[in-house]
Amino acid sequence: MMLRVGFGFDVHQLVEGRELWLGGVLVPHTVGALGHSDADVLLHAVCDALLGALALGDIGQHFPDTDQRWKGADSKHLLEAVVHLLDQRGWTVGNVDSTLVLERPKIMPHVPAMRSVMADLLKVGEDAVSIKATTNEGMGYVGRREGVCAYAVATVVRKS
Ligand code: MG
Repeated sequence: MMLRVGFGFDVHQLVEGRELWLGGVLVPHTVGALGHSDADVLLHAVCDALLGALALGDIGQHFPDTDQRWKGADSKHLLEAVVHLLDQRGWTVGNVDSTLVLERPKIMPHVPAMRSVMADLLKVGEDAVSIKATTNEGMGYVGRREGVCAYAVATVVRKS
């Protein structure tokens, strides 16, 4: 098969005293995402989508939160490592489509920077990186602003 598809989902709690990293970009906000690494929920979902495309497990298996190496880790390095893993197996990224779900802040002003950072990490053009955002209409844990989640799908293409 020359083309495969993967899906990823991630969620992080929003708490005071943490930075909010989304798509490799620091988004100014009153709360940030809690996690072992920098808790970049969007990059984590993309990592899982890419790993999923090749049935290589999930981000927790590759970068366990029990491992001190990944404490406070910049998730851009995790995504870089995943892309390298794909490359070693003879695959490149085709495209990524993703959706962030959170109530605040507004995400759209930050999307161009996120696409630029992610395109570099994924070694694709920005036209192959889609980032969408929605609120949860005030419902559930996202609606109560207790958390942020992200969904991603990715295609990977076998190198000729
Ligand atoms: Mg995560």
